Amino acid sequence: MAAKKAQEKTYTVSNPATFEPVATYPLMSPGEVDQAVKRAKAAFPSWSQSAISQRQAILKRAAAVLAENAAEYARQIAAENGKTAMDAMLADIFSTAHLLSHYGKKLGKYLAPVKVEGTLLFPGRKTYYVFEPKGVVGVISPWNYPFTLSAGPVISAVAAGNSVVLKPSSQTTRSGLIVKEIFVKAGLPPDVAQVVTGSGSHTGDALASHPGLDMLFFTGSTEIGNKINVKAAERLIPVIMELGGKDVAIVTKNADIDRAVSGTAWGAFTNCGQTCIGTEIILVDKSIFTLFAEKLARHAGGIKTGMGCGEVGAMTMDSQFRLVIEQLEDAVAKGATVLAGGKPEEGRTGRFFPPTVLTGTTPDMRVRTEETFGPLKCLIPFDTVDEAIAIANASEYGLSASVYTRDPKEGKALAARLKTGSVNINDALVTYAVPSLPFGGVKKSGIGRYHGAIGLQAFTDIKSVTEFYWPLKREFFWYPIPKETETLFPHLMVMMFGQKAADKLKAAGSAVRVAAGSLAARL
Ligand code: NAP
Repeated sequence: MAAKKAQEKTYTVSNPATFEPVATYPLMSPGEVDQAVKRAKAAFPSWSQSAISQRQAILKRAAAVLAENAAEYARQIAAENGKTAMDAMLADIFSTAHLLSHYGKKLGKYLAPVKVEGTLLFPGRKTYYVFEPKGVVGVISPWNYPFTLSAGPVISAVAAGNSVVLKPSSQTTRSGLIVKEIFVKAGLPPDVAQVVTGSGSHTGDALASHPGLDMLFFTGSTEIGNKINVKAAERLIPVIMELGGKDVAIVTKNADIDRAVSGTAWGAFTNCGQTCIGTEIILVDKSIFTLFAEKLARHAGGIKTGMGCGEVGAMTMDSQFRLVIEQLEDAVAKGATVLAGGKPEEGRTGRFFPPTVLTGTTPDMRVRTEETFGPLKCLIPFDTVDEAIAIANASEYGLSASVYTRDPKEGKALAARLKTGSVNINDALVTYAVPSLPFGGVKKSGIGRYHGAIGLQAFTDIKSVTEFYWPLKREFFWYPIPKETETLFPHLMVMMFGQKAADKLKAAGSAVRVAAGSLAARL
């Protein structure tokens, strides 16, 4: 985490591109987390009863606040994360405004009661289910897309009528505070969405362990996600886990090579490669491999590092920076070749790492088995698409993937075979940015989904309701059970579940006769 000081009561965040201090924040204690959860609990009854139209107005106003302050917020996010302001604008701010506006429009539809078909056994009932807020949702978010990955779950939780306590990554505390700021400016009661600041092991652990939470939403590494999942399981509270990934892009012989080169490079290097759904392994059909490799080497080699528009920013965390160097050294020592990029420039201030592509990697190399989460990528040829799918599905992760082909039939067939939470055909990262598409992973990449209708309803408890107002004193199977009921059920069974039409018709006649007699007795 960022540097601590003054008996660990505060911590200071430094800019990864300049190493200059950006801001100092309180390192909140378990007691302060407890107070925040209690305030959130007290705010819940009133907010959970708020009209959908009131929530929609707040969501739309929050989108407007974000839009009006976008450039300044992008600057602040970039300063603590090390990404370029353009990366912050595109992936953090634009996508969040889009989600706010989407739920601002669709909330009534997504949370409307759902009428369902009843059954013959219970005639006259209205049958439907409703979505009710859960209570207090704890949200713990990472540093890589520090604003959108904090805002997304907070927006979903608040829109569904919950109150929230958010613990952003200590490195990117300001991004979490912006989430609260836009909501308060939009008119949300302040205790409905609160932020606790501090490190994961101290403040984050206190939040994840708090008995007052009704749900936990975690975005981060699979390792910490596992630990938090165990804590939630002990208290039997639901979780959504958005965890690590090792995404592949499959480029078939039918691909538009130029689009595949640009798409895989963008998917690989945007946000300095620190993207959970970023492309880590590029699998290319052997028949186009040489041409693809030449073009990718030229393209990736032309992407500069720096803080300007169109450049790749600095890596956020020192630990990640060192991991990328370790994986690169391990791969080269075991025989891999550097096709583009390589080691960071010596003596340069800031954690800048050039977009790097390796060929000749083998499955025993760390870069092939571990999540990299940086601008170091593997380019691998394949003989058949079956081989490409096998490499992709061998991963313990299953977050997202890309397929590049001009043949729609091939694209859909490959997408269906990939064991991932999402697939982009001739694209990269788009599934996250479409607010109506549910987002999340399979295998060790996570549990549950957010975004879209399903992702909003995930922040609610579903209550099934039946309504019945006929003037019957009792049902034909309530005590004392009438004798006719015994006669009725065999007919009813054949009528409802039998296969032959003649038998069903005959049983229906008998059932109606028995039921009519029984009904007369119950009026
Ligand atoms: P991380 O180390 O797991 O941290 C994530 C969050 O958990 C941070 O707020 C961290 O706080 C906090 N934390 C750490 N230890 C904790 C503990 N014992 N109890 C409670 N909270 C704790 O992950 P990261 O390094 O920030 O993020 C990178 C990882 O996230 C990668 O694996 C990436 O693939 C994954 N990710 C997944 C998605 C997705 O949607 N699937 C999206 C983005 C990132 P501090 O930072 O203050 O220590």
